[in-house]
Amino acid sequence: MTLWWARRDLRLADNPALLQAQADGPTAAAFAWTPALHLWSGRRRAHLARVLWSLREDTGGALAIRRGAAADVIAAAAREADAPVVWAAREHTPSGVREQDAVQRALHAEGRELRFVGSPYAIAPGRVLKTDGTPYQVFTPFSRAWREHGWRSPAGAADPQRFRPLDSDVDLDQQAAHGDTADPLESRHEFRESQVLADLHSFVDSDLPRYAAERDRPDLDSTSHLSVPLAYGQLHPRTVLALTGQVRTDAARMFESEIAWREFHGDVLHHHPSAQRESLTPVMPEDAWATGREADASFLAWRRGETGFSLVDAGMRQLAATGIMHNRVRMVTASFLVKDLHLPWQRGADHFRRSLLDYDHAQNQLNWQWVAGTGRDAAPFFRVFNPDVQADRFDPDRRYRQRWIPELDTPGYPMPMLDHRVEREVALAHLRQGKRPS
Ligand code: FAD
Repeated sequence: MTLWWARRDLRLADNPALLQAQADGPTAAAFAWTPALHLWSGRRRAHLARVLWSLREDTGGALAIRRGAAADVIAAAAREADAPVVWAAREHTPSGVREQDAVQRALHAEGRELRFVGSPYAIAPGRVLKTDGTPYQVFTPFSRAWREHGWRSPAGAADPQRFRPLDSDVDLDQQAAHGDTADPLESRHEFRESQVLADLHSFVDSDLPRYAAERDRPDLDSTSHLSVPLAYGQLHPRTVLALTGQVRTDAARMFESEIAWREFHGDVLHHHPSAQRESLTPVMPEDAWATGREADASFLAWRRGETGFSLVDAGMRQLAATGIMHNRVRMVTASFLVKDLHLPWQRGADHFRRSLLDYDHAQNQLNWQWVAGTGRDAAPFFRVFNPDVQADRFDPDRRYRQRWIPELDTPGYPMPMLDHRVEREVALAHLRQGKRPS
């Protein structure tokens, strides 16, 4: 028997690690419900519980979901299954690498082997390199080389009959109950693999043509919503690219270039693991960032969506209510935190980590760095989003803001907590200070 270690690849279709395990014979399957999951919001954990519940059904009840560190859970499952080999997809985030190293050591100690195949990317991080063998620092040439490199076609689906059951000790019903299921948007985030695939097809057939024109409009909400299944590996980017590749339109190319951003960020974090916490390009003196009580009060107003800047507030309330925020609004809320409130990007990124249903470490940390202007290939720091101009431009009829701020046009809605023009100048002064040689 072999063991499949289910990680961020919670699907039967196009799953190379699972297919390899099944090629070796009858397969047991295990997922480690690690202590780190308790840092997630209840909603995020509930969504994971539903995804696992659905996958377990698809394996005929065979998938074991067990509490504990991955090294303990996987070593014990391999022992029970008497599996000499465990198959898994490789992770490239710092915590994923630490985890797989620990699993490898635990298995080795018992004479077993961990083998990797596949990753959560179309092309595994570290593979797309410049001709001199060094990594790309800038997105556009990376994306060109990424396309030229190409990826293989999606593989078929695993056979649900070839699983052998192991016991679970996590009550998924109880975990799923933590989610705010009364939320009308929650039901959008489908947790069955078959439905995720159906949604993908329906997006490509019906909505993709409008993508280029409408993707920046939070009021129209016409993006793919694929980040959620991609984050849990219910869908592989290759499956998405195989479909969009058949469509010969600019919208399809633009959509693929968003997937390329996902791949680029995975690659950057692979080459620069410290980018998960440290600015890749420090742009301000460290002591220029706001700290202390006043900073805490600013942060709270931001988090609660009570800044008096309607697009920022609508976004933060959407995040609190649903675990989701439109990309344009993520950029505006993040920029506000960094350049109007002068708070370190890491503080905002931590809040997103707890809240986002589609949380993905590489995407979140590097998008924050992009907005903060501290990334390698970031928006320059001096480019500061004006939250009112962004609101008029991307939510022209105020529909998005009215939806999330019922009191928007009443005296109950707060006045702006600051003067954007003044804070913009403060941010630029910090930048000039940062640029001065010390
Ligand atoms: P679509 O517009 O339909 O895009 C299709 C796919 O392309 C997405 O599902 C996603 O996989 C990828 N994509 C799109 N935009 C980006 C981008 N800017 N960077 C990387 N990949 C992208 N995305 C996450 O998946 N997880 C995160 O934790 C995350 N945190 C973010 C934090 C900030 C501050 C910002 C500005 C962006 C963040 N993003 C994150 C990127 C982006 O906002 C989401 O991927 C997008 O909103 C998801 O909606 P969608 O699937 O409908 O996107």
